Amino acid sequence: MMNVPLTLSSMMERAETYFAKKQVISRTSSGVHTFTYREIGERTRRLASALEKLGVKKGERVGTLAWNHHRHLEAYFAIPGLGAVLHTINIRLAPQQIVYIINHAEDQVLLIDDDLVPLIEKVKDELKTVKAFVIMTDKDELPETSLEPVYHYENLLEEGNPGFEFVKDIDENDPAGMCYTSATTGNPKGVVYSHRGIVLHSMALGLADTAALSERDVAMPVVPMFHVNAWGLPFAAVWFGTTQVMPGPYFTPKLLADMIQEHQVTLTAGVPTIWLGLLKELEEGDYDMSSLRAILCGGSAAPKGLIHTFESKYKIPFVHAYGMTETSPLVVLSRLKSYQQDLPEEARLDIRAKQGGLVPGVEMKVVGKDGKEVAWNGEEMGELLLRGPWIADEYYQDERTKEAFQDGWLHTGDVVTVDEEGVIKIVDRTKDLIKSGGEWISSVDLENALMAHEDVFEAAVVAVPHEKWQERPVACVVLKDNARGKVTKEELYDYLKPQFAKWWLPDDIVFMDEIPKTSVGKFLKRALREQLKDHHSAS
Ligand code: ADP
Repeated sequence: MMNVPLTLSSMMERAETYFAKKQVISRTSSGVHTFTYREIGERTRRLASALEKLGVKKGERVGTLAWNHHRHLEAYFAIPGLGAVLHTINIRLAPQQIVYIINHAEDQVLLIDDDLVPLIEKVKDELKTVKAFVIMTDKDELPETSLEPVYHYENLLEEGNPGFEFVKDIDENDPAGMCYTSATTGNPKGVVYSHRGIVLHSMALGLADTAALSERDVAMPVVPMFHVNAWGLPFAAVWFGTTQVMPGPYFTPKLLADMIQEHQVTLTAGVPTIWLGLLKELEEGDYDMSSLRAILCGGSAAPKGLIHTFESKYKIPFVHAYGMTETSPLVVLSRLKSYQQDLPEEARLDIRAKQGGLVPGVEMKVVGKDGKEVAWNGEEMGELLLRGPWIADEYYQDERTKEAFQDGWLHTGDVVTVDEEGVIKIVDRTKDLIKSGGEWISSVDLENALMAHEDVFEAAVVAVPHEKWQERPVACVVLKDNARGKVTKEELYDYLKPQFAKWWLPDDIVFMDEIPKTSVGKFLKRALREQLKDHHSAS
């Protein structure tokens, strides 16, 4: 067979050539704008040439701090089209982590949404490699800013070359993108996506038994473009000529419902918190959601009730999927097999609420504590190991590669059972992290902060189920003997507040006489989680 490299530029070329009239509907801070793929292609080429003029070279990283909109989509293709690497920065990370990842990736240029400029202004003096800042804005004038040198995105495009040729000498294994993922403790870890990985992952999104994304779809990625490339949807949608609806900054459930209705969205994707919000909106308002053929839900376990309500009350197919930054992310997706369709409703729902079966192209092993593969009986638990062509094989220049990548397998840190059908269910996680509304909170960082308080003897922070956010942190604190009865929750909150973003603060602080421990003296978090599982928090 011909050894034709799989590259991102050929995806955009296909959209420009065969789907020139198809549209990208993009919401920005000033309203909703429509572009055709012909226009997006031209703007992408202009951006690539502008970045080249700014001195970006093959292999170098360009960071983005941006919401889901057409300019971010252009960056998705312009940067790799230049042979450079698209580094999507998670705007919800703590400022010091943002500094760390920009310096670690050695970003040369940052593309920043106008409303996110203050985020970077605060830390600009700590950035070691950034040579230029480009502000993405609808306004003619740049906002007042201390960043320099600073450029206006649209002005750069105006001066850019609409006929810019995407770089041809790209090896399919060259890096195209990167994204950092939270670690249990310490700085985030970088994952690099190759052109080949992204192309193959896009192909997987088009398979009938996965997302079945096609030209006929109107896709609305709600999952942020700084979260594993919005689960790869923008790449696949361009390749397939799929109409895209990009919901932009600070959207509300009402806005999502309005956009679905107005633009006849057929497929959308996001974390459970988003769909819980949409459900509430649908229950209160009068919307026509009949265009939707699939809601993809992942990032955290989809509650059974959520799946049931969308499907039975609103007749919207709800597809539960699993993945991680290291896996591009789609690797596991829940669908009934043909011979399971006639099972009683409850049994079907039980299967669908599991994370699901492997997507073609990916392999798995589930390994117990003894190092042996567990039996597929839906009961034995083990860690999920994965391998495949869109799964990373290392963390970017990071010692922690050794822990997660061993013998050709990614050790996910997720503890699962597998049933006779090969369907996995996540039952626990070894990563000491709490996932709140799709974003990670480090329990270890909160514990360390609490234990640094002079009156705290021990502190353990655990995830407690939460109706809206899936998980919220609750802190269990043992005070020193002389502080018992004297130090209050409020004092500890006042102490934590300046150190963490508001959404990281525990929902409650529970005083205890002692924290249960394992035989080797580690906190027995499972026991704490069990004890606190019905602990309804203040917020
Ligand atoms: P993403 O942005 O896709 O959430 P992350 O790398 O931040 O990717 O998180 C991946 C982790 O999230 C997984 O290792 C797992 O612990 C959790 N996760 C992802 N999808 C699901 C799901 N459907 N059910 C339960 N946990 C999930």
